[in-house]
Amino acid sequence: MEVDDQVVEWRRHLHRHPEPSFEEHETARFVAETLEGLGGLNVERPTETSVLARLSTGRPGPTVALRADIDALPIAEESGVEFASERPGLMHACGHDGHTAMLLGAARELLAQELPGGEIRFLFQHAEELAPGGARDMVAAGVMDGVDLVYGCHLWTPLEYGKVVARPGPFMAAADFFKLTVTGRGGHAGLPHTADDTIAAAAAIVTGLQHIVARRIDPLQPAVVTVGSLHAGDAPNVIPGEAVLTGTTRSFDAATREQLPRLIEQVATSVAAAHGTSAELDYRFGYTPVVNDPTATALVQDAIGDRLADLKPIMGGDDFSAFLQHAPGCYAFIGAGGEFPHHHPRFRIDERALALGTRLHVQVALQALGEMT
Ligand SMILES: [Zn+2]
Ligand SMILES: [Zn+2]
Repeated sequence: MEVDDQVVEWRRHLHRHPEPSFEEHETARFVAETLEGLGGLNVERPTETSVLARLSTGRPGPTVALRADIDALPIAEESGVEFASERPGLMHACGHDGHTAMLLGAARELLAQELPGGEIRFLFQHAEELAPGGARDMVAAGVMDGVDLVYGCHLWTPLEYGKVVARPGPFMAAADFFKLTVTGRGGHAGLPHTADDTIAAAAAIVTGLQHIVARRIDPLQPAVVTVGSLHAGDAPNVIPGEAVLTGTTRSFDAATREQLPRLIEQVATSVAAAHGTSAELDYRFGYTPVVNDPTATALVQDAIGDRLADLKPIMGGDDFSAFLQHAPGCYAFIGAGGEFPHHHPRFRIDERALALGTRLHVQVALQALGEMT
């Protein structure tokens, strides 16, 4: 079978069998067995649900790492494709099935190539969708030891098919997470003066948080504070004793990133106090920003050729940044033109993008081994 058809077949198989972050047991087994079936690779399992394959030329040269993430999301699929998820409540709604298939295809292609020297490592990473993600576990297991360049890519439906983006410098934001617990005396809804209204306090906190980016952060530094969930109360006539808010912050600049938890805490505790309640902040730093190395990005841009397009940095995060902390590299976006955004139940990709992504992995590896030797 031609490699492009094979990649589509692999992708559809993975699409039918999605697994959530840290539970990619069957996916990892499929990847490892497929790689072993190709012959000529050293296949390892750095963690329980990740896979590393080494293609060693046995001759001196650089080590290039190519990465794909393999996990799916807890979303019930409504895409209507014939190869839709067979697992209720789970879906490859970010395109990681495509990433996995493309990297398998690249391994097959590179095994058939005359390589100048050095080593190619194929990193199949688990748990990109949860922070902290799987990349740091793989790094801790040593997959980046001795790597000279790391490359990865994301299929991107907001970008039309045929276009590829590789942008030097900050490209994806730091993604951090917070939880605020507002507590007070619960009580009778008809006697609010004898209780502390945690719902009114939580609502005021949500409004107050909007002022952080608007009024407290340098306007020239991009930042996001989003409250993604708010839970309180069970009955119309009861003032609950607790309200819980969770959310995420996004930023690029290190000082801005450090500032955010302090500002959130200040707003939350002060506003809570103004309502006779108290608030407690639990803040977790997640992924560092994805910052593409200029030299590595130039190499990837050469491999892209005239398909190169531009895209502004985005406030989404990706733990590809964990690999970038150990070697210079580049994270590219491959246009997969679709109607619905990533993480949407009706998410679909243009499958023609898979062939492009596969070839780009191959090109980048060949170019890096050739140029960096
Ligand atoms: Zn995603
Ligand atoms: Zn993704």
